[in-house]
Order: sequence, then C-alpha cells, then structure tokens
Amino acid sequence: MFQPVSSRVNFGELEEKTLALWAEKDVFKRSVENRKNNRRFTMYEGPPTANGKPGIHHVLSRVFKDVIPRYKVMKGFYAPRIGGWDTHGLPVELEVEKALGFKSKTDIERYGIAEFNQKCRESVFKYVQDWNALTERIGYWVDLDNAYVTMNNSYIESGWWVVKQLWDKGLIYQGHKVTPHCPRCGTSLSSHEVALGYEEHTEDPSVYIKFRISPNSLQGTLSAFKNKPFSLLAWTTTPWTLPANTALAICDSAEYAVLDMGEEYLVLAAARLEANGLQAAHEVGRVKGSDLVGLKYLPLFNPFEYEMSVARLENGELVVVPATTSLDYHVIATDYVSMDDGTGIVHTAPAYGEVDYESGKKYGLYFIHHVDLQGKITGTYPGAGKFVKTADPLITQELKHRGLLFKSETIHHTYPFCWRCGTPLLYFAKQSWYIRTTACREALISGNESINWYPEHIKHGRFGDWLQNNVDWAFSRERYWGTPIPVWRCQTCQSTDCIGGLAELQGKPGFSGFKDPLDLHRPYVDDITYECTQCHGEMKRVTDVIDCWFDSGAMPVAQYHYPFDPDSLNIFTDGRFPADYICEAVDQTRGWFYSLHALSTLLFNRPSYENVICLGHILDEKGEKMSKSKGNVVLPETVIGKYGADAVRWYLFTASPAGNARRFSEKLVSEVTRSFMSTLWNVYSFFILYANIDKYQPSMEKYPTVSELDRWILSELNQLIKEVTSDLDSYDPVAAARAIEIFVDYLSNWYVRRSRRRFWKSESDADKLSAYSALYECLVKVSKLLAPFLPFLAEEIYRNMICSVDPQAPDSVHLTDYPVADESLIDNELSSAMRLAMKVSSIGRAARAQAGIKVRQPLAEAFIVGVAPSEQAGLEKLADSVIDELNVKRLSFVSNVADLPENSATVTEGTLSVAIDKTLTQELADEGLVREITHRLQGLRRNANFEIADSIITYFEADEHAERVISIWQDYIQRETLSTNLVKGFPDDGTVTSESYKLEGHIVNLGVKKA
Ligand SMILES: [Zn+2]
Ligand SMILES: [Zn+2]
Repeated sequence: MFQPVSSRVNFGELEEKTLALWAEKDVFKRSVENRKNNRRFTMYEGPPTANGKPGIHHVLSRVFKDVIPRYKVMKGFYAPRIGGWDTHGLPVELEVEKALGFKSKTDIERYGIAEFNQKCRESVFKYVQDWNALTERIGYWVDLDNAYVTMNNSYIESGWWVVKQLWDKGLIYQGHKVTPHCPRCGTSLSSHEVALGYEEHTEDPSVYIKFRISPNSLQGTLSAFKNKPFSLLAWTTTPWTLPANTALAICDSAEYAVLDMGEEYLVLAAARLEANGLQAAHEVGRVKGSDLVGLKYLPLFNPFEYEMSVARLENGELVVVPATTSLDYHVIATDYVSMDDGTGIVHTAPAYGEVDYESGKKYGLYFIHHVDLQGKITGTYPGAGKFVKTADPLITQELKHRGLLFKSETIHHTYPFCWRCGTPLLYFAKQSWYIRTTACREALISGNESINWYPEHIKHGRFGDWLQNNVDWAFSRERYWGTPIPVWRCQTCQSTDCIGGLAELQGKPGFSGFKDPLDLHRPYVDDITYECTQCHGEMKRVTDVIDCWFDSGAMPVAQYHYPFDPDSLNIFTDGRFPADYICEAVDQTRGWFYSLHALSTLLFNRPSYENVICLGHILDEKGEKMSKSKGNVVLPETVIGKYGADAVRWYLFTASPAGNARRFSEKLVSEVTRSFMSTLWNVYSFFILYANIDKYQPSMEKYPTVSELDRWILSELNQLIKEVTSDLDSYDPVAAARAIEIFVDYLSNWYVRRSRRRFWKSESDADKLSAYSALYECLVKVSKLLAPFLPFLAEEIYRNMICSVDPQAPDSVHLTDYPVADESLIDNELSSAMRLAMKVSSIGRAARAQAGIKVRQPLAEAFIVGVAPSEQAGLEKLADSVIDELNVKRLSFVSNVADLPENSATVTEGTLSVAIDKTLTQELADEGLVREITHRLQGLRRNANFEIADSIITYFEADEHAERVISIWQDYIQRETLSTNLVKGFPDDGTVTSESYKLEGHIVNLGVKKA
C-alpha cells in the first residue's frame, strides 16, 4: 500500500517535513560521500556578504547554483560544495559607518581603527542566521559548516601569497594616475567597480566658458583680431574642474570659425556652430586647428591668487613650480577632441581626467589639484570648503560675473556613482597600487576562449569586450577593513619589499610588533616592522588594504589556504581546480567572474572555471527594478511561506532563459504552483488513489505494454529523459525544466485523461495492469528527473512510490541515479501521430464550441481535412482516442473543405481543419441526455462525499421521455456511477442526497445513497 495522498496539498508544510527528514537522515552529506571514489565535480561558491538580509536575487543565484551539482551527484560525480563568505571591504565598512553615524574617514580615525575593525568583524555575520535559514529552506545544498571566510588569517595569508607571486613577476606597481575616486569612502575604485555603478539620466550643469587669448600671441592670420577680446569657447559638465584647467585641446585638422559677437571675437569648431545655435552669427574668419595651436591664454583662476600650489608634469614626475612663475596656458592639439558634442575645444585639467593627464605628461602641462580626498574645494576658490558639486554653481557664478560665461544649461547624461554608497565618483590623479593585468591581456582573452558561457553571447560580448579593453587593476583601497597590502617600505631609503606569508615575515631581521593572538588586520599589522636590508632603516607597511574583489577572486586557492596547507597542494590534481561550474548574476562579469579569471590567468596562466551560467536580473511584476525606495521589493520568505520553496524554484527555472531578466511576484509564483505543481500532484494523487483501491503492487513483474497509449507515454518519457540529460549536460536547466513541464502536461491532459476509464473499470485485466505499470514508471522517473529542480516534491513522490513498497531502495531520491533513457522505447512516429491526434482533438473541440454543442452531446461524425497520407495512417491507428475525445461515432478524412457536408462546423488551424456534423438525431439527443444524467449523478456522489470505490443506489423521477431513456440506458448509467440499483421514486427517510434538474428540456430528479 502507498501512503494515501490528499488531492489538496500544502506544499510549504510538506517541505518542512522533508527538511526534517533530510536533517535526520543526513541526506546531503550522504549524497556527497556516497560518490567519494568517483570523478570530482567542483562548483565554486561566489561568496555573498552576510551583513545584509538575503533577497530574492540571492535565491535566484542559489537555486541555479544548486541544480547542476545535484544533477551531477545523481550522475555519479563526487561533488562536495563548499560555501563561502565575503567579509571584507567597503560594503562592510559602510554599514558600520552608517550604524555609528560616521560621515567620513576622519570619524573612523577618531574612533580608532582597532575599534572600527572590531565592529566590522562583528557585523559581517549579523544576518548569517537569516542566510543559513534561507539557504536551508530553499533546499540549496552547500556545506556551510566548512565555509571559507575571507577575513580569516589563513585566507589573508593565501592572499598575500598571491600578491607576492605577482610581485615577483613584476605585475604589481604603484602608479600616479587618474583613478575613479569616491569622495565619501575616501578611496579609489577599480574600473570593474566603476562599471557597477553607472546611472543614466544624471542631471549635471553644462557650461560654456570663454578663455581669453593673450593679445600678444595673436600672430599671422590671427593678428587681424587684436582689436577686440579674442576668446576660445570650451564646454564642460564639471565646472569645479575649471580652476585646474591648464590647457585647451583642439583638433589640428578641423576648421574653426571666428565669430564677431560685437564686443568680442569667439572661436569654436565650424562643425559645432549649428549645434550651439550660432549658425547665424557673424562669421569673420575661418582657421585651421593647427593655426590655434600654441596660442597662449590667461588662466581662469590663477592658482597663486587662490593659495594653491602648482606643479608641472615633467617626464611623468610632478615638479613643484615657484609661486613667482608667470603662468601662461596654451592650446594643444590632441586626438581626443570630439565633434559630436561641445565646441570642438576641450577644457583640459590634468589632475581630473585620464586623457587630460596623458596630455599633461606629453606636453609638460601645469598640474593643479585643488580638491581634497573628501571631494571638497581647497584654497580660496569660490566654493572653498564645499563639496565639488555644491561648488559648481558658485564657480559658474564667478565666471559669469567676470563676463567669461557664454551660456549655462543643465544636461542629463550617464555618470558613474560609487557602487556601495551612491556618491558621484570624481576622477583624480593620485597614487594607487596596481596589478598589471594589461601585461596578460592576450592570455586573458585566449583563456576566455576555453570557458563555456551560458548564455553564449557573454563570452565575446560583455566579458570579451571587458577583456579587450582591459586596464590595469587598481587594487589598493585607502581604507581599514580588508586584506592589508603586504608591502613594507623603508622609512629611510624608500625601498619596498613584498611579503608572501607569515613565516617569511617572521623571519625578517629585526622583526617586531607581533601581536598575540595573531590578527593580520589593521592596525595590528601596521605595528609590525623589521630592518631594511639596504640601509638598516625601519620597514613599515604601506597603509592601504586590498580591494574585496581581490579576496573573492583569490578563492580558488585561498579557500584551501594554498600553498601553506599541505593538502592544498593537491588541488590541481584532485579536481578542485579549476571549477567545473560557477554561477552568478550578469553584473559579476566585471566583478567576480573577472577577478577570478584575472588572478588565475596571472598566477597559473589558465582559467579557474570551465562553465558559467550568467543570470539575468530580477525585476518586479511590471518589469521594473526592485528597490527599497520604490517599495516593490518582494521578500523571498513571504512567497516561500505561502507557496513553498519548490514553487519559487520552479518559477525561477522556467520564467525565462537563464541570461534574461525575469519578473518576480507572488502572483507569478502562484500561477506556477497551479499550472505545473498542482497538475503533477493531481496525477500523482490520482495514481495513489486507484492503486490503493486496486492494491496494485509495482514490485510484481513488469506487465507487457498492451496499449498504444502506454507505448506512447513511455516513448515520450524516454525522449524526455534524453532531452533533460542533454540540456543539463549543456548547463541549460531552463530548457530541461520546460521539457518536463510539457511532459507533465501530456501526462495529465492526455495520458491520464485518455486512461481514466482503464483505471475505473472493476476488472484487473492486462490493459489495466499495463496502464498502472506505465503511469507508475512515468511518475517515478519524473520524480528523479525533477529531483535537482524540485528537491522537495521529488522526494515526496519518490518516497511514497518507491520506499513504501521497496525497503531495499535508497531512502532518498537524492541518493539515486539519474534516469537513463531506454532508446528502444522511443517511437518518434507514434509520438508525432499522437501529437497530431491531440491537435485534431483540440481543434475539433473548438469546432464544437463554435457550433455551441457541449462535448457531452454525442455527434455522428467528425471530419479531418488537410493531413498528409502518412499522417492519416498514424491518426487512423489512434482513431479511437480522437473519436472518444470528440464524442463522435465516426472519424472521416476528406481531402478538401469543399467536400464537407452542409450542416457542419469547421475550425482551421494552419493547414489543418477539423469539422463536426451538427445534425442531432433523436437517438443522439437521447444519448446526450443520458450523459448529462450520468454527469449529474457523479456530481451528487462527490457532494455526498462518497469514496471513489463506493457502490451506491440511485433514485430518480423523470418525465415520460426521460424515464424511457433512463430505462434504455440503465446498464450504462449503473456502470458509470457504480449503482447497484436504479430505483424509481424516492424513499422519504432523509438518507438520500438529491437534486432536481432541468436537462435538455426534461425535468429529472436524482438522488444517491450508499449501497
Ligand atoms: Zn563610496
Ligand atoms: Zn632602507
């Protein structure tokens, strides 16, 4: 006997029981250990930060991370999955700063680095309980007990080892470059972090400034314009950079127009006249860009008048110039002047732009840096002491006052913001530590060729482009809570030294400052000093820490404390490196996917992962981004609480291809529950119900498949196994899930529907046993196919269908092998014939609906038009099914719609038409009436809560015609309703459930009572 199954099911409750069972039977661990001697399958967990609650996007990546290893285990692989936690970096520091009410780094230093880092340490696992609970609840199987933690000393030490390897290869350097800088966090960011924070439609000022040329420098053709002020017009969206302007850039081959504006001359590119509304201005001359090169102009803000020091970029070095220097800035020719925006004359501030800085180096330009690391204007400029964006209008105002503002507008454009704190980034020239990834660009690109990306377009698109345009990785952060950069510098001779491990550090001459217990974080590591081998000076660590993306990118080695732990030395031979599989959302192409790839290429000249599923984002029901401020965030626990984890999983697996965005809402999940999970459940409970009534024993020998329907569903099943296996082998769980969905639809809406009668009939003949055997086979195999996707529901079905009849069987579906297709059972011809039969039936039902004739009313004939002879042969074999579905007496094939009888209704779909003969003879009408009566009696049985197998006595009263029809069809009615007697008249003892009906114009009173 199987456990009785209710047709009404609460999936969530069921799942809670399954969770308890897994815990009790230690199923996850056993599923892994069972395969210990087999080939390893490695998935790397991209470490989340547990200092915030997990959201639905985390559920998305976690279920996709889960499905593949579960499948691989059932395929026989040894697949331990180790969890991990990202515990360092800006995200953590920022949360602590918020909690403490800090506004800047000064607040942190006042508070104390040791105390601040202690708070960071405490905060990283603030929500770890929520993470663990959700991870368990959604059935994501991952070893959290042995998870790697990036703040552990062992992890940091491996990180140091990585830095040292790169250092020894000459891939680490300190450079003075323009880098994106977050003024709030007070640190540089890497280009991949910048890529995470672009915001469209950012409003900024758009100002046009007149730069006055020194009259003396107007020579040759330009000497004609000495009679009035002569200005070059330049455009900027960052007025705060204007005090740092030290050059104007033009394109030497472009044409520039000289406009007479009345009181002055104005110059801009001829190609930009119209765009700036100046096409009608009085043009008095036209010159080549090369004629403008070398023109000297007056500083907008002479730095010496604003208490600002000035340097000059000489051979790439900054050399301070005396405050007595007379500053002349001049026009230079560069190749970055665009004719698509602005004026064709580009304001150049070497301290604040990458190309500006390059020009500065090339032409030895002056270098003025008048903004501090918090983004505040220094010196005595307008807006001094204020944040740059606040200073923008004040600087503009000052220039307007001096008659140097030509026009001032606002624009909307795309601008980068800090990915963590949302502050607009500023581009600053400053010292940072870099990893010379560009030295390995070719290896990064060729390594990518061997990685399988799902979806494939990421490989040469988003990721490939990123590698093509690779820039060196600015990996230092002027922060506190992170892996300290293991570089020590001599306080006397400035020589530097990189440390690759703890023992190496402790072995240094004059080593001191070690704190016990060991903590490799700041400020303790900053106290460690040793002696310079060059000059015996004191070696002190540089104060920067490392980007947290470096930490997570180092996880392939750092999670095993490579190379310090002896066992870690085996990772290259035992299958732990590279990973077979990783999976995260698409934003990680420039985050973790990149940092993993960069570090393993630099270290080992090979990729660290072979297959990647790159997931699209999650949107709300309307397709909009979820955000706290919009209030449209859907909490995973709410939906799981209502519909269960499997429903959420199934929705996420089937809603859209892995790489596409998917909408998410409670409603969408509830639809999935209804359409797929409840359908499967109904088939399952149908089977259990009848199998228990018939005491069906699946352990008995296999019954020969006697029915075409059984042959068909077993063919579909094996075809499905083949397809799902191939989809999962090519990392496409979405295609696999959708294939299962289609199969379950066939199973429910065709196989079971067509087979119902076979289960109902009382005799246990070969046909019935064949049906049981086929349906049993389908359900068991489907539960195994589904196990990686819906681990809970699969377990439920498997345990009842297998474990309750076979005590020898593995006690969990997750300990079984994935089904293997029996190709000999696949009959493609039968499959296409059956699909055509389903299609004909569905069109035929539409024809009935069009004619307004119920399906229960038998009709004489249906006609099929437009099938090929080969299709006709297939359909003829299945004619019984179609005849029954369409409730007709005969099925005919005609070659032309014109050959159809007059009184017919036709529906056409593509080349296929199906027609029904609408003629209703008295005989057919009577039969229709009987069908109605039977249908009502079945309804009464249900209302009276009779068991399916209960025999009943049926009572009736009817008009003369109906009574005659009932008596003619007595056998049929009794058989269909399990009635032992048909009794005319009602007993008045109140034991009968009865109802009065008007059916096809006849009054019929019906009643039922248990026999
Ligand atoms: Zn920031
Ligand atoms: Zn020294």
